[in-house]
Amino acid sequence: MKSDIEIAQSANMKPIQEIAEQLKLSSTDWEPYGYYKAKLSHTLLEQLSERPNGKVVLVTAINPTPAGEGKSTVTVGLGQALNKLNKNTVVALREPSLGPTMGLKGGAAGGGYSQVLPMEDINLHFTGDIHAITTANNALAAFIDNHIHQGNDLNIDPRRIGWKRVLDINDRALREVVVGLGGPAKGVPREDGFSISVASEIMAILCLANSLNDLKERLSRIVFGYTYDQQPVTVKQLGMEGALTLLLREAIKPNLVQTLENTPAIIHGGPFANIAHGCNSVMATNIAAKLGEYVVTEAGFGADLGAEKFLDIKTEAGGMEPDSVVIVATIRALKMHGGVAKHSLEEENIEAVQEGIKNLEKHMGTIKHFGLPFVVALNRFPQDTETEIEVVKNWCDQSDASFALTEVHAHGGQGGVELAQKVIQTVEMGEKKFKRIYQREDSIEEKIHAIASKVYGAEKVEYSSKAKKQLKQFVELGWGQLPICMAKTQYSLTDDPTLVGRPENFTINIREFSPSIGAGFLVALTGNVMTMPGLPKSPAALKMDVDDNGNALGLF
Ligand code: ADP
Repeated sequence: MKSDIEIAQSANMKPIQEIAEQLKLSSTDWEPYGYYKAKLSHTLLEQLSERPNGKVVLVTAINPTPAGEGKSTVTVGLGQALNKLNKNTVVALREPSLGPTMGLKGGAAGGGYSQVLPMEDINLHFTGDIHAITTANNALAAFIDNHIHQGNDLNIDPRRIGWKRVLDINDRALREVVVGLGGPAKGVPREDGFSISVASEIMAILCLANSLNDLKERLSRIVFGYTYDQQPVTVKQLGMEGALTLLLREAIKPNLVQTLENTPAIIHGGPFANIAHGCNSVMATNIAAKLGEYVVTEAGFGADLGAEKFLDIKTEAGGMEPDSVVIVATIRALKMHGGVAKHSLEEENIEAVQEGIKNLEKHMGTIKHFGLPFVVALNRFPQDTETEIEVVKNWCDQSDASFALTEVHAHGGQGGVELAQKVIQTVEMGEKKFKRIYQREDSIEEKIHAIASKVYGAEKVEYSSKAKKQLKQFVELGWGQLPICMAKTQYSLTDDPTLVGRPENFTINIREFSPSIGAGFLVALTGNVMTMPGLPKSPAALKMDVDDNGNALGLF
């Protein structure tokens, strides 16, 4: 079997101008970024505002296992399949972070015959958006420290600065650092730390902004710390929103590329799905919906994290509604949820698949809570046996759930035709009755209770004394109406990553809150959520290289 990068490098890419023409864009709507990438104008959404919206299909999954379940692959494959059925479709994806690419995953641009291209660029520096976000984030950090050094007119308490520096590489050694050491000329010493760039609030802001102006407004509202008398301090008080917006002037423009089958793809923004909301930008999805009859987009991790946030946070910020949801499952992951260890996944195990289906069942229930129709996409891996596949198919039939075996990794769009037909069916039946899990006016505790009980299946929620104190303070500060962004492990429905399958009678423990006022949500931290991942013993980067002609090697 050819590797992802071998398939990608033998593809027949069209010049990006042809993709832009396919979308009937005029020459002022886009600018080339080399031969195969383009930036779309930041005013394009406004210009297209009178056009009707295409149908939005959200791709989500069961709780992931460490390898990823193939959401991006299915998203790309479904886009290609819809185009095969003559539905003019645009794919809208997240930009990969170099952290997971160099660390665990080795690439995040789909896989097999369902990839976005040029995958080397998309997986590495792409059009520089994440670098711009890193720079804007660190510029703010530098200005905060400089403000304190220069006399601290705003009375900022150095012990209460929540704004960390960022880097787009996994680097556990930087999780906690001390800055400003070395005497009065070197600044004011304080404890600091690094997060990965995609965990920066600026990434979340970029992805929720509807326009350049909205971006500036949101940046100005960032609360980066507190004064000695515990009042929040904002970017507006520092007067930095103009400079930060300037640094993001290019990054706010969505990126246009294509899939292996020349389906247009807009790839823009990629916030973490634990500490942030885990979806590509509102601008990209909304532009895709204006340009295509269908847009296929994805949300990170499982339906408990990415899809919940897409549906409760992104749809509100972007004024959009999905028309159908695809829940991706794999036999491997179902077996792991059924109790099988990673090293025994190759053996057929019917009981484990049956047991693991309970995890899928929970996520189906979640999507029903949101009032949306869905299709279960079983992403076929070469090792899956016919009997294992039959188990899932029969169970879906008995549960009256739409099911499609999906072979987009091996066969591209052709392998996703059944899925595409079922998606079209759910959309055309018009059965969606979309409603969010909670209302803005609900109290913070009510919102968290709704997510914990309806989405995770938890019995109750407990708050640490720190979290309780923060709750009171946030309500006093007028932040009680904001949506909640849960920071929870992706591996389990609970806040304990080892509890796979469908745990019951459990408690969700809220350790602490972190306000993302610019993004417009309150992050509720459960368990130990890391904002700076570490590298594994054998990082994916060890397989990477460049040949004498400058071609990338080993990006999976
Ligand atoms: P996710 O979006 O859920 O993180 P990806 O789509 O990025 O997952 O896929 C993760 C990895 O698994 C990729 O390297 C991809 O090539 C591989 N993969 C996905 N689906 C299949 C499949 N059906 N068969 C073999 N490999 C697959």
